[in-house]
Amino acid sequence: MSKAFEQLQPYLEKAQAFQTAKVLFEWDNETLAPKTAGAATSKVVGTLSAEYFSVITDEKVSRLVEECRKEALNPVEEAIVRELEEEMEKLECIPAGEYREFAQLTSEGTRIWAEARKEKDFERFAPTLKKLVEYTKKFASYRAKEGQKLYDVLLDDYEKGFDMKTLDEFFGTLKEQLVPFLKNLVESGVKIEDGFLTGDYKEEDQEAIGRFLAEYVGFDFDRGVMAVSAHPFTTNLHNKDVRITTSYNDHVDDSLFSVIHESGHAIYEMGIPDELTQTLVGQGASMGMHESQSRFFENIIGRNEAFWIPVYGTLQSRFPSQLGHVTMEQFVKAINKVEPSLIRTQADELTYSLHVLIRYEIEKMLIEEGLDVEELPKVWADKYEEYLGVRPKDVAEGVLQDIHWSQGSFGYFPSYALGSAFGAQFYAYMKKHMDFEGLLKRGEISVIREFLRQHIHQYGKLKTSRQMLKDMTGEDFNPQYYIDYLTEKYTKLYGLTEA
Ligand code: ZN
Repeated sequence: MSKAFEQLQPYLEKAQAFQTAKVLFEWDNETLAPKTAGAATSKVVGTLSAEYFSVITDEKVSRLVEECRKEALNPVEEAIVRELEEEMEKLECIPAGEYREFAQLTSEGTRIWAEARKEKDFERFAPTLKKLVEYTKKFASYRAKEGQKLYDVLLDDYEKGFDMKTLDEFFGTLKEQLVPFLKNLVESGVKIEDGFLTGDYKEEDQEAIGRFLAEYVGFDFDRGVMAVSAHPFTTNLHNKDVRITTSYNDHVDDSLFSVIHESGHAIYEMGIPDELTQTLVGQGASMGMHESQSRFFENIIGRNEAFWIPVYGTLQSRFPSQLGHVTMEQFVKAINKVEPSLIRTQADELTYSLHVLIRYEIEKMLIEEGLDVEELPKVWADKYEEYLGVRPKDVAEGVLQDIHWSQGSFGYFPSYALGSAFGAQFYAYMKKHMDFEGLLKRGEISVIREFLRQHIHQYGKLKTSRQMLKDMTGEDFNPQYYIDYLTEKYTKLYGLTEA
């Protein structure tokens, strides 16, 4: 180990510890913390964040980083120093006062957004949103390289190597091919019956089947736990402690697929090797790569007919009155039903990326084209009508549905769609090298999981998503795989004739 890198260790461990504690509080807040904990716990979290900030921006740290640059580092050390430098750059370029103001604004912003959404009152949130956009642009301008566009700075935070040029092409392809395909599908008038997915599905039975499925796809309950929260999410402390949540309602498919989705995130984090965990490169490579894994498990595996062959009987025997009379074919059609809708998180696999496309176009307008915040509800509604054929009747089911902007996250949304597209490219490649559906039919998911571990999970953040995609499939990112996957799947499912 290089000398300077060795001296850097205690600082890195300290920063990691503050970060882990913060994440654990966030998890606790969403799951088990009592109602009254909020304000007092925020103070604790605020202190932890400040301590983290002071470790990272400690001048000894920047001196050691400089020395590291003069010594020979191994690839892991090299990657850790690179991540550290990026983190330092992000934190250091913002004046401390502005950083504090922004932190306050986002914490208030989330509260104001929640109220505005409840009251269906956009005006209540608009002034805060305007300030959030201004701060975001200002912070991005501090970090922009010569000639770099502000939205590109933001996009780079979530997905390295995917700037507006690449994304315009990606979303352009989706728009050009999926919008007419969807229109065709809707106009075909084919109806899929899915009423049996809604009903008196007891929570304890949903939990039991959720645990069964999580374990079946590879979630290790010795190294993870599952809890309940309002919105499902995954928290990763390190590779021996990965936590998922789900929520229950009378639509049984909601919890089943959220469990498989979060298991995909968790399996990724559980697959990070011991040498990398608890370091700056010991997490998934990017937002998009994470979504590629969760959506791969949820959709490409979980909504695949072959997946259900060995396990549909287990589901039926857990819910004999609800599903006893439903054939597996009917069930598989129902869980893949397409319905253009207003809410992104409830969207089906086909229309999902169009929800993301709308957000991408709007963020670009906000950050790059000076769109007035006041115009947002109308722009939003018009785009939903144009691409999905539905129009929100109020802002709660329109522009106020997502929490992201209230937290100051701009540039995050594209990763959701990119993840799905990465997954489809992996799938196309894997099908050439293994009997994918045969493995699912025989319940041998471990072979698929092991393949993903070898090609993706074990690298943590050592490689970018784009590099991993290239190294595995031998090809750069190519959105056509995603379009082909979707159009083939739904042409067959809906019995459409190829156009
Ligand atoms: Zn996810």
